[in-house]
Amino acid sequence: MGTILMGACQSSGEGENFSYSVEKFADLEILRYRVPGFEQLTLQQKKLVYYLAQAAIEGRDVLFDQQGQHNLAIRRTLEAIYCNYAGDATAADYKNLVVYLKRVWFSSGIHHHYATDKLMPDFSQAYFTEVVKSLDPSLLPLRDGQTVDSLLATIVPVMFDPNVDAKRVNLAEGQDMIATSANNFYSNLTQNEAENFYNQLKKTASPTPVSYGLNSRLVKKDGKVAEEVWRVGGLYSEAIEKIVYWLEKAALVAESEGQKKVIEALVKFYRTGNLEDFDEYSILWTTDTARVDFINGFIETYGDPLGFKGSWESMVNFKDVEATKRTEIISSNAQWFEDNSPVDKRFKKEEVKGVSAKVITAAMLGGDCYPATPIGINLPNANWIRTLHGSKSVTIENITDAYDKAAQGNGFAREFYWSQSEVELMNTYGFTTSNLHTDLHECLGHGSGKLTPGVSQGALKAYGSAVEEARADLFGLYYIADPKMVELGLLPNDHAYKAEYIKFMTNGLLTQLVRIAPGSSLEESHMRNRQLIARWALEKGAPENVVELKKKNGKTYVVINDYGKLRTLFGLLLAEIQRIRSEGDYANARSIVETYGVKVDTDLHNEVLARYKKLDIAPYKGFVNPVYDIVTDESGEIADIKVSYTEGYAEQMLRYSKDHSWVY
Ligand code: ZN
Repeated sequence: MGTILMGACQSSGEGENFSYSVEKFADLEILRYRVPGFEQLTLQQKKLVYYLAQAAIEGRDVLFDQQGQHNLAIRRTLEAIYCNYAGDATAADYKNLVVYLKRVWFSSGIHHHYATDKLMPDFSQAYFTEVVKSLDPSLLPLRDGQTVDSLLATIVPVMFDPNVDAKRVNLAEGQDMIATSANNFYSNLTQNEAENFYNQLKKTASPTPVSYGLNSRLVKKDGKVAEEVWRVGGLYSEAIEKIVYWLEKAALVAESEGQKKVIEALVKFYRTGNLEDFDEYSILWTTDTARVDFINGFIETYGDPLGFKGSWESMVNFKDVEATKRTEIISSNAQWFEDNSPVDKRFKKEEVKGVSAKVITAAMLGGDCYPATPIGINLPNANWIRTLHGSKSVTIENITDAYDKAAQGNGFAREFYWSQSEVELMNTYGFTTSNLHTDLHECLGHGSGKLTPGVSQGALKAYGSAVEEARADLFGLYYIADPKMVELGLLPNDHAYKAEYIKFMTNGLLTQLVRIAPGSSLEESHMRNRQLIARWALEKGAPENVVELKKKNGKTYVVINDYGKLRTLFGLLLAEIQRIRSEGDYANARSIVETYGVKVDTDLHNEVLARYKKLDIAPYKGFVNPVYDIVTDESGEIADIKVSYTEGYAEQMLRYSKDHSWVY
């Protein structure tokens, strides 16, 4: 379910003459991805990609606004400076302001896209105020009747005061997660009020419950709690109308009647805002098999500490037919994997339905998939749809390929792996095993297992995401070492899997820590999940020295002494994690996540940060999109669509802000 993100650890790969790297700033590197195979699509498919790609950009502002009510005013003010400021562009303050703007673009707001804490500007409040005041007020995003001073009075504390809107998603225990989270999903109410509102709705038990709260902002006005629905005619109407406009064009060039129905169902949902329409769309989408495919909507709920609200995202893609043979092998054996997993029989699916898996080529990223993007996606998220209709699972190989190519020769492997033999394992098999682990995570992991009757999907509350990700990762880790992989032709031999084990354990115990600031603990669910698995295995394997943290020249390394026993440990943990999930065992979910997945070893963290800093690698990466241009014939008809890869980062962001900005 949900998305899988790239770990901090990347292996190296073959080089070639395409510039993957666009630019680097702060803790970020902007890359480019290619769209191999686009030229070979039919003209109709190209048009379909084009229209869906347009729809993918139109919702960009929605995400900015969802992630903080002042994000758009801040972005637009910064853009006005960037495009119009006549003062000294070589001053350190100015340069730092540009970096800040680039980070705001990257995060779709003023909070770190991953850590969710506020990005603190490296320029002074006085400088910012002065620069804003030097601009012609007509360039600024002033609301009706708003003065420059009142704009500044609104955004300056939000930008500069570390105590205002400090965190976008606060998952800290014992605090009001709504009041302390800066996202814009709730207004003027407490966590209790929000939870009561949705508990009340959920009371009528339905075998096909809608995803309550997914497409609305919850507000309290005059003592009454109500939803402002994101739909045509509702909140974000103008942006949604644009999305609908392009979707309707896309429907006309759909590859099949089935796909046309999918697009029409989504349009219907955007018009009505009715969550039953969303489920209907999701079911049609899940079973559609057209080559060109897309996600467009309010999908993932990671941005809401209560897990109700869907962040707007889009991704347009088409199937990589050759590489999909791999995932087809996996999904056609899904029942075998389910039957043979180390999970208790009570928690297994008797019949694994419709695990549809494919390798895709991303053609356009939007909203919450842009510029930082997942490398795998498994949807829909509604559990009952997954049970009754299956799910669609994808590995995005042109993205993993770009990561891999961009990382070649960056010194990472040499710095963090114990010996040459680990480095060689990574070089030889790392790309293959990493993709395979993603396939297993998405195609099988999230699709496996079942909930005990009566257990609700949200029973694990704030620990649900980390447990769910752990379940999927463990499923992949357990099976990647299975002889079945070689038998099915997915791995070349019985030791290639070790590359994934060394990568996963090193990432979970050491290298993913480069993504968080000194003194922080882990909050993001995928990071919690990885450390949970790695620390648990380290501890449980200690009596037999299965895995150890070994020192050499003052540096810590992960050494796996017994790969077979490590696999057994992964199997044991998978069984326990599945039990927790199936039974909705909140107490144990909380205990296992808090014990292994949250706290960070300070000394180790500092050491890893220092070593990583020397390598000068950006811990986070994102992508600029390609540009699609229409070629028309003499009669003005579309004759072809050309893809190009030359647009820069700021150039693209400014173009999107200028041409695709529909939230005010
Ligand atoms: Zn996942």
